[in-house]
Amino acid sequence: MQYRKYGKLGYEVSLFGVGCMRLPKIFDGGDKAKVDRPKAYELLRYAADNGVTYFDTAWGYHHQTSEEVLGEALAEGGRRARVKIATKQPLMAMPKQSDIRRNLENTLKKLRTDYIDIYIIHNIQPGTWATVKERSLIAEWEKFKAEGLIKAIGFSYHGNAPCFNEILAHYDWDMCQIQQNLMDVELQAGEQGIIEAGKKGCALVIMEPLRGGGLAAPTKAVQELYNAHPVKRNAVDWAFRHLIDYPQVSCILSGVSTLEQLKENIALFSAPDAVPNCLSAADKELIRKVRERYQSVKSIPCTGCEYCLPCPNGVQIPSVFTLYNDGMSFENFDQPSRAYMFTRAAKQDASQCVECGQCEEKCPQHIKIIDELKTAHSKLKNWIE
Ligand code: SF4
Ligand code: SF4
Repeated sequence: MQYRKYGKLGYEVSLFGVGCMRLPKIFDGGDKAKVDRPKAYELLRYAADNGVTYFDTAWGYHHQTSEEVLGEALAEGGRRARVKIATKQPLMAMPKQSDIRRNLENTLKKLRTDYIDIYIIHNIQPGTWATVKERSLIAEWEKFKAEGLIKAIGFSYHGNAPCFNEILAHYDWDMCQIQQNLMDVELQAGEQGIIEAGKKGCALVIMEPLRGGGLAAPTKAVQELYNAHPVKRNAVDWAFRHLIDYPQVSCILSGVSTLEQLKENIALFSAPDAVPNCLSAADKELIRKVRERYQSVKSIPCTGCEYCLPCPNGVQIPSVFTLYNDGMSFENFDQPSRAYMFTRAAKQDASQCVECGQCEEKCPQHIKIIDELKTAHSKLKNWIE
């Protein structure tokens, strides 16, 4: 396993970290799947016993059971002491000020630990950043840090670059977690976000390296590009290499559902050449062409500019279009539909649209947003977890 410095915190972590949002599941006919605990324990323990020292979970994953499963898996064999645990709390789980401490205490119990290595404000968005500041969340968490209950404070982020830069500059964060992959170089925090986080000495953790799994199963057209390149790697390897190449990256998270996937990832991140600046100019050109090929089949011409926001009914218009376009580009709607399930749970999905038309007046691409939202919703709405 390759290891990298974790920002300014003085320790190293495995370059590959296990994300605990896609643990093995059992579907028993209801509208919610359960974690398959024996299989999840086996997988998590195998990771901890084979070089993985970073585990990422969250209050809400797997219907609020992910933290508990991780805690149970690591409780035996001295594993807890050997690894770093990162977990996240979203604002919506802390409606009252007293919930801030109560949630931490519940999470500590679920994780069966006396401290959390990295405590993360989950998914700060341009619309929620002001509330994070008003509620003095960081100051409250600094008290936990002084008490030794948490060791580091971070944030995770899926919004646009200007807000990311503002959040980054606001506080001396120990870490930040951003979505990045070979498709998102100019989206969300973007490549520039990687560079800025590196300059601040902030540990940088990458999520969605395979864009929800879509990059793992290339379309025929993309596979032809990979086949024609002189260096032979599979699509997963190329997607990870794109991120391994950045020296600023401390850890790359990937959710694993099977032992086979986990073993493949451990092997890939243990390669002697899985190091910073591992890509040649020709490799980078291949990745640019792959991105261009995926983007060429985009069917809703949304640029993600967000001029249409805010929608008075809370519809996250560009996010819905991104998921739909991912499904079209990857010729597979499984992962976009799964992500859309969370959009629906937050009541930010296309079904919230009341057809007021405000957004269409503001869209510089003149997209027929109301109609396109209906198209996207019909393709994305059927995932059950
Ligand atoms: S038309 Fe629908 S999506 Fe657009 S602003 Fe109105 S409610 Fe929101
Ligand atoms: S204004 Fe138009 S192009 Fe911009 S994010 Fe909204 S839908 Fe997409």
